[in-house]
Formats: sequence, structure tokens, C-alpha cells
Amino acid sequence: MGKANATMSSAAAATAPAAQAPAATPAPTAAHGHGHAAGEQQPPRIHIRAQDGYRWDELPVLVYKEDGGTHFKSITRQLLCPGQGLGCELRYFEIEPGGHSTLEVHQHIHSVIILRGRGQCLVGETVYDLALHDVIYIPTATWHQFRANQGEHLGFLCMVNHDRDRPTRPTEAVEARLRQNPAVDGFIRT
Ligand code: MN
Repeated sequence: MGKANATMSSAAAATAPAAQAPAATPAPTAAHGHGHAAGEQQPPRIHIRAQDGYRWDELPVLVYKEDGGTHFKSITRQLLCPGQGLGCELRYFEIEPGGHSTLEVHQHIHSVIILRGRGQCLVGETVYDLALHDVIYIPTATWHQFRANQGEHLGFLCMVNHDRDRPTRPTEAVEARLRQNPAVDGFIRT
């Protein structure tokens, strides 16, 4: 009995590709295949045509974080490369004039290149002025926050590990410790 089943399984496996060839249901309309919710696994798009204003064809412009609050201000995110099989994601963030990202820390790493405007960022205990095409590396376990200059957007590509830990915000005690450095105290917004 067992032997007969094994033989039948092998035969079925050998003929499976041919049996699956005719599609049971027609494919969805290809022209509308990109309008999916954030976080849904989709095959990476081969070519995403750039649009005016730091936008890309049919690429959703997402709010930075959904949880509200005042720890960030005026940021959008576009996922340029979801990174399946690559180990990292590539995102385009944009901070409106005067806005800022969350002051946060995490184990994963960021590699950033400025594509639009000017601003500053805190990395560790140093505030850096950012200009077009500057590159910033944010090491593991390092506090960081980005800010756009008044009157200028700050847009940047940010490469990040595909599998990553969640960012942590400072507790009151940690914030007090960070603010002991005058450069940090004068820069951060929480
Ligand atoms: Mn971060």
C-alpha cells in the first residue's frame, strides 16, 4: 500500500507542471496591478518611472508613522524597493520645511543620501549640517533625528535592513541624560 502510494506520488509530481499550465482563472488586469496596501508582499517592480516633485509612478506616498503624536512632524515615505531577496529596503523620505523625524534608536543601520534640500541630523551626540548629495551613516544603537531647514524640504534616500527591530523613543530619564550635552539639548524635539 505504502509503496503504491509513493509510486503514484512520484508520477503525479512528474506531470504536475503540465497539469498546471492552463490557468484556472484569468490573471487580474495587469495595468492596475500596483495599487496594493502598504506592507503587502508584491513582486518588485522592474522599472518605476519618476514623476515631477519627487514622486514615482503609482507609488503610494505614505505618512511616516500611523500612531500620531508630536514626536515627528510632516514626513512622507515612499517605498522604492521592498527588498525581497536583497536583505534591505530602499525608501524615499521627505520632511516638510521645519519638520522633523522621530528621535529614536534601534539595532538596525541606516545609510542615507540627501536628494532634496537641506537640513540637519543628530547622530549620536553630534549635529551634522546636510546638503544635497551628502551621505550619512547611522550606526547600530545610535540616537538619531532629522530636521528640514525652515523654508526647505529635506528629501533623502534611506537604505535599511529588510528584517529589523522596532525603533525605541527615549524615556524621560534617557532624554534627560541626552540633554546633558548642550548640542543635543539645543537640537532634539521630542
Ligand atoms: Mn531610524
